Amino acid sequence: MEERKVVLVTGGSRGIGKEVAEVYAENGYDVVINYVSDKTDVEGIKKEFEEKGVKCLLVKADVSKAEDVNNMVESAIAEFGKIDVLVNNAGITRDTLLMRMSEEDFDKVIEINLKGTYLVTKSVTKYMMKKRQGSIINLASVVGVVGNAGQCNYSASKAGIIGFTKSVAKELASRNIRANAVAPGFIATDMTSVLSDSVKESINAQIPLKRMGTAREVAEVIYFLGSEKSSYITGQVINIDGGMVM
Ligand code: NAP
Repeated sequence: MEERKVVLVTGGSRGIGKEVAEVYAENGYDVVINYVSDKTDVEGIKKEFEEKGVKCLLVKADVSKAEDVNNMVESAIAEFGKIDVLVNNAGITRDTLLMRMSEEDFDKVIEINLKGTYLVTKSVTKYMMKKRQGSIINLASVVGVVGNAGQCNYSASKAGIIGFTKSVAKELASRNIRANAVAPGFIATDMTSVLSDSVKESINAQIPLKRMGTAREVAEVIYFLGSEKSSYITGQVINIDGGMVM
């Protein structure tokens, strides 16, 4: 019997991350997901997976804290012995215009989105390098490519993730480890549910496909990038945005 593969999805409790964990589980992977404070939602996900014969490890971890991250990765290795695919999905927004943006809101977004991606990637690649195999997928955003008024902290974090992904792809290619980023546009999750209906309408009007994307549409591309079907793709940024940026 073929050995089961293992995926670590940060921020797997909700939204895109939850959907990513589900797509991998459906395709025969065992899953590691983190939660930050509330364990209730993730306990439900674990139960659902286990009923389908998928092993699921839940770890409490704030991705911006090195100690939490190392504990999360070591727990995953203790449980499964390896991590085949890493999806750096955890992320937050603290939107406001530059003139009103506090240093705290700037730092918080950089710490979780960008530094978190660095900490988890560094911790996981130690084990991927030993196996000489792995695929890393980082969640960037179209605003990391084109910018967005009211999101200078968030778009800086996402542009940083793009540079980080390309550098890591160059460093690790010789070890058979690939690193790619996805750049979603507007995806219907808790993150975008805070937008008013009029803002959503004006966003939809500017998207060639005239609608927001679904978490599933992002998760399927992330699954492809983690799989052998994308074995000759590394250092790329794949837009999933209904044609917003082309
Ligand atoms: P979401 O629904 O707000 O979920 C965010 C996830 O990140 C949650 O699981 C949350 O955990 C976790 N998280 C937050 N802070 C964390 C921390 N310090 N340590 C560990 N986990 C933490 O977001 P989403 O819309 O699914 O977005 C997922 C990713 O896609 C993000 O990186 C986001 O920037 C990116 N993205 C989203 C869109 C969009 O339109 N939705 C577009 C482009 C890119 P808790 O449940 O415990 O809070």
